[in-house]
This record gives sequence, structure tokens and C-alpha cells, in this order.
Amino acid sequence: MIITQNKDNAGIVLTFDDGPNPEHTPELLAVLDDLGVTAYFFVVGKAVKERPELAKAMHDAGHVLCNHSFTHPKLTTLSPDERRAELEQCSEAIAGITGEAPQWFRPPYFDTNDEVQALVDELGMHCVNCSIRSKDTTADIDTHGVEANLRETKNRDGIILCHEWSKPSRDALARVIPEWKAEMGRLSLP
Ligand SMILES: [Zn+2]
Repeated sequence: MIITQNKDNAGIVLTFDDGPNPEHTPELLAVLDDLGVTAYFFVVGKAVKERPELAKAMHDAGHVLCNHSFTHPKLTTLSPDERRAELEQCSEAIAGITGEAPQWFRPPYFDTNDEVQALVDELGMHCVNCSIRSKDTTADIDTHGVEANLRETKNRDGIILCHEWSKPSRDALARVIPEWKAEMGRLSLP
């Protein structure tokens, strides 16, 4: 199953890809703490292994650690064994921090196919897409650009996609989340 939209009335969900990141994660966690919201962090397993203290800080602050593969490859280009190792090693890295296997998965670059999906199913996870796009990977985008993108694509039960390393996203969220706070929720299966 691929979830693009949160369940009806389950609220807007905040997701961050590609961490933990020593340069940006601490500040992002401080911003989220100030805003009083929790988020879903689609982490790269190798980065969790390298910076376990940052992954632990996410978990301790009430954020949810989710699987974004071990080294962030294009999964459809890998052999079945390599693909399995990418997902399992990331889940193991997360379980090493949280004590449990992650429930949510997002393929790097949204690169997926039936085989990837079957493996995600087999490992007991659910694929999470997004419906509110910050487009923070756009070259030279600034805070106002991200804010405009978020406002343009906002919907009641949307899933917001941002990257952990994006300062424009961090600053734009600090502007919009206070307005959206009553609508923020948790990720639910439809
Ligand atoms: Zn990614």
C-alpha cells in the first residue's frame, strides 16, 4: 500500500527525509520543539549508524523514525539481495535506537516498482508518499518559495514532504505551522 494522503480527519503530517544530519538536525529539532509538533523522520540507516545520538534525540523528543533505506540508492537498480539488505539494515539501525522495527517506509527518489513494494509489504512496512510538496530540493529556493509551495498544495489531510538539510523548509515551517497547528495529526492507515 502506498499512502499519499493521510486518513480522513487524521490531520496534516510532517515528514523529513535524509537525516540524521549533524549540521541541521539539532536546529530542526529545536524548531519543532518550539512549534510543539512531532514529525516523521525518514532516516538513512548508514547516517543513523554514524550519528546514533542524533537519531536518539529524535526518538526521545517523540518523533517517529521511519525507513528510507541504508545508503539511499535507487532501489529498482539493485539486485533482490541488495534491495533486501538496504531495507533490513535500515530497519535494524532504527530498532537499535527505538527498540522496535519501523512501520513506515519511503523509497529514495520515490523510485519504486512492484518488487520493491512486495518487499516492503513482506517486511511489514507501509510506503509513504506525500501530498504537500515543499519542493525544497529546487535549486536556489528560498524561505518564501517553500512557504508559497506549502500553502499552494496544502490540503486537510496532507502529508508534507521536506528534507532535514533544508534551512528554507525549516524557516517556512516556522511560519506556517503556527497557523496550521490545530490541523496537525499523526500518520494513519486509510
Ligand atoms: Zn531521500
